[in-house]
Amino acid sequence: MNARRYMLEVRGLGKTFGETEVLKAIDLNVSEGELVFIIGPSGSGKSTMLRCCNRLEEPTSGAILIDNARITDIPRRDLDRMRLNVGMVFQGFHLYPHMSVIKNVILAQIKALKRPADEARQRGMELLDQVGLGHKADAMPSELSGGQQQRVAIARALALDPKVMLFDEPTSALDPELVGSVLKVMKDLRDKGMTMLVVSHEMAFAREAADRVVFMDGGYVVEAGTPDEIFGNPKSDRLKSFLSRVS
Ligand code: ADP
Ligand code: MG
Repeated sequence: MNARRYMLEVRGLGKTFGETEVLKAIDLNVSEGELVFIIGPSGSGKSTMLRCCNRLEEPTSGAILIDNARITDIPRRDLDRMRLNVGMVFQGFHLYPHMSVIKNVILAQIKALKRPADEARQRGMELLDQVGLGHKADAMPSELSGGQQQRVAIARALALDPKVMLFDEPTSALDPELVGSVLKVMKDLRDKGMTMLVVSHEMAFAREAADRVVFMDGGYVVEAGTPDEIFGNPKSDRLKSFLSRVS
């Protein structure tokens, strides 16, 4: 038997800010090659949970494992190497504005991975082609649309060969007509076998592309299941009420 292994495990994750308990014993597993979608109202802890997965936020309790390594045990000074395994894409694109598109995709490969420049450029061009932007390699970020900039940000994250990709509302800042191009890149990535954890309000995309959907509310995982189960047969009142508000 070739059992699927977990690429990301969140075990009993808790997080408090001051007096506020924002995450309450979250359990969540993502198998290798799986796309898990997280939905939930604003303030339910989705971003905090994602940020704990590469320790941009320090968990208060619980453990997180990436490819069976307990990243919550790593001393702070050694976090950089761990973070190479976890690609992250945010709502804002955060490209380096004074560097060309290809330089944005090359820089961390040279600095963090110590890849030779020609190899980094070749890998960068491959990834820009993959996100449909090979022809924009020498453009500056300001010359691109928001959707194109987000696709560069995805290529830049992929250039470090991450084991898991985390997306926090990657299309929320985009004009509606630009959303589709970013979702298509994410779908292609999933089809290539990337392990992905995605926070998004794009419910139609979740139905089409997600293996599983997790509904968070008030710092808990309230319900989790296949897209058909979550959207077609929601069990809890909180999920029913959330879906009636967003759809
Ligand atoms: P979501 O992404 O689901 O909208 P967040 O994870 O951003 O939710 O926030 C969850 C809760 O944690 C919110 O009540 C928010 O105000 C609070 N929170 C997030 N970050 C901080 C912080 N750095 N300090 C204090 N409270 C925070
Ligand atoms: Mg958020």
